[in-house]
Order: sequence, then C-alpha cells, then structure tokens
Amino acid sequence: MKPVGPIPPGFDAIDGELAISGRRASEWVAQAGRTPLFVYSKAMIDARVAQLRAHLPARVGLNYAVKANPHPAVIAHMAPLVDGFDIASAGELALCVAAGIDPRRISFAGPGKRDEELEAAIGAGVTLNCESEGEGMRALAIGQRLGIAPRIAVRVNPSFVMTGSGMKMGGGAKQFGVDAERVPALARQLIAQGAEWRGLHIFTGSQTLSADAIIEAQGNVLDLAAALTEEIGHGCPKLNMGGGLGIPYFPGDTPVDLARVGDALTARVAALPGALADTALCLELGRYLVGEAGVYLARIIDRKISHGATFLVTDGGLHHQLAASGNFGTVVRRNYPSAIATQYGAEPTEEVNIVGCLCTPLDRLADNAMMPHADVGDLVAIFCAGAYGATASPSAFLGHGPAAELLV
Ligand SMILES: *Cc1c(COP(=O)(O)O)cnc(C)c1O
Repeated sequence: MKPVGPIPPGFDAIDGELAISGRRASEWVAQAGRTPLFVYSKAMIDARVAQLRAHLPARVGLNYAVKANPHPAVIAHMAPLVDGFDIASAGELALCVAAGIDPRRISFAGPGKRDEELEAAIGAGVTLNCESEGEGMRALAIGQRLGIAPRIAVRVNPSFVMTGSGMKMGGGAKQFGVDAERVPALARQLIAQGAEWRGLHIFTGSQTLSADAIIEAQGNVLDLAAALTEEIGHGCPKLNMGGGLGIPYFPGDTPVDLARVGDALTARVAALPGALADTALCLELGRYLVGEAGVYLARIIDRKISHGATFLVTDGGLHHQLAASGNFGTVVRRNYPSAIATQYGAEPTEEVNIVGCLCTPLDRLADNAMMPHADVGDLVAIFCAGAYGATASPSAFLGHGPAAELLV
C-alpha cells in the first residue's frame, strides 16, 4: 500500500460525491459535456489571495505567473485580484491582452525571447525582464526602430539559491538572468542608451514549503537588490522578489507557514536599506495561487485484474497530468492527492492502481492506493491540478486531445 498526498482543504462531500465550489463533480462533468475535465474553483483562488493579502505587508504586491495556468477564464478572474502578471512568451502576452489586462501591469521574463516577441512586448508597453546582455541590446535596437523607450528590468542570476526548492532557477551557471556581478554594467548601459529603467527581478526557486528557506531567500534578495542598486547608481523603481511558495502534494508535506513568512517580510520591509526606500516590491506566484484550486476529473472506463492487482483504467492520463504521473521533475514517483470522486468520503476498502489510457507504462495516476470500491463509470479526482496541468502536459501524445477546462 502506498499513501496518497493530502487533499487540500476546501472540498466538501454532497450526497457521497466530491463537491467543488458547492456542486457535485458529476454536475460539472455534465456542464462540460465530457471527461477528462479540469475544474478550477474561483472561491479557492479568492481565498488564497485573501490569505496572502492578510499576511503580507501592504507594500508588497502580488503578481500572477501566468505559466502556472494560462486558461483564459483564470487569467480574467485574476485581473482584479492581483497587481501584476508575469509572462514568459508572446503567446502568454496575447492571452493577457485578450483578457483585457493593461500591458503596463505585465512583465515578460524567460530566456530566448525572439525579436518578434520583444517587438510585441515593447510596442505594448510591457516590462522586459532582461535575461542577457544580448537580449538587452536587441531590445534597445527594436525600441529605437519603433521610436519607443523600452521598459526594461534586469533579471539577476544570484549566487545563492532557495534551499529546499523543488526546481532551482538561480545560482551557479544558469540560462536564466544575468550573473549578479555583471548586472550593474548592463543596467547602466541600458539606462544610458535610453531604456526606461524598471529595476530588478530576482527569482530564487520554486515549490518550497519551508518558511525558513523562503525567509532566508527573501532576505538575501533584498540585500542583493540594495547592493546592486547602489552600484548601478539609479533608483530601483521596482523589485520583483520572486516567489517560490509551494503547495503540499505528497504524504508528509505540510503547508507553508504563511504567518511566519509574512511576519518576517513585514519586519524586513519596515527596515529597508535606503537604496530601496522608494522601490515598489512584489512577489510572483503561480502554483501557490491556483494549484490547490484545481481538480482533474477522469472517468473509469475499465476495471481489470492483472496478477492479483486491480487496475482502474481511466479516460485521463499523463497527457493532461504529467506531474501526477511522476514524470515532470520528480525522482521517485509518489501519489498525488487523489480520490474516487463519486464515492467521496466512503471507507477505503481495496488497493488499486489508477492508470490512464495511454499505451505507456509511465501513465499512472496513483499506485497501490487504498480507495473505496469503484466501478466503470465512476469518476476519479486528482487534486492539486490547478497549476502545471493542462498546459504542462503532452496533450498531443497519442492523439486523445486536450482535456476540457471549467472555472467555476
Ligand atoms: C515559473 C516561474 C514562476 C512561478 O513559479 P511557481 O512555482 O508556479 O510559483 C515565477 N517566476 C518565474 C520567473 C518563473 O519562471
């Protein structure tokens, strides 16, 4: 028997069925007209943003990292809730513009921005988080051609990382950002050549549950930003401090102690070094805002036994939920929080393997998990599916096509 991860708080049972935003899973499936289906709860997103606002100092804004969940309805729902949007492609820019978001609230990070992407962003007034000297020079040239001063911040590759981070995106040799010691020279050059200086972006990691690690990283980010700003010799209009707050996926994971993170940041912000006295601060969060608000629902198509093991074969799989299958940045496969949505809260009575419909042994959603008895037609729920699900999975693989998505 292998345990499953902790089901996030906020879900209820109605008539023995999982309820999301007050309605039964099967009703959402009926509304969507099909499975597999991602359901994202507005109420849970709202509650998470409210919790952050309650704990973080008012001075620190919240950006939404669109790549976590770029569903158009989710982006539109976020528009009044957060202060800014972080994008990583011209495709995400187009989604934000279509959702009516003012491009001046958007910043664009990510290596390998093509000239067309830089042009679209500069033309719209988006802030570029510049990832290299070469990109900075291309942005200046494009700005000159368009007759627009490009809005540019520099993304810093810091010498430290956030300890305990699920995905390390700073420290040592990286494709992200400009090595800290070269940032002042680049910033001064960008300013001298007519860029509108927007400040610094320092992202130190992702999916961290440890408050201590987050507090330490935030302190390091503020110290580094202050030192770089002094060396640059121009005020830092904005500092994107990164994010990295994680969510519990696996047995034994516990939520971030947000009160501790908020208290420590409040104390730091009250004693900011002079170089950052007028700097607008923000955190950029993806998974923490939307991850727990999403549930992936798939229908059991077959129930079979092989060498004594029970397999519940669903119409879903790793083509929508690569992370739950254990094939997206994990070393050892562990079970995501999961349940039989149509037998929700019933006593677990059998050990089952919940698998997808793809012709590959990698396509597992839960192994050796204790579940109530389920039959063909029952719905399976995989939780923590609101981030890096639908668009971070190979939905073209094997030709089953994308899942349906609903924001409710
Ligand atoms: C992916 C990414 C994020 C979001 O990370 P989460 O773990 O989803 O919060 C934020 N900033 C940058 C630069 C990123 O690349």
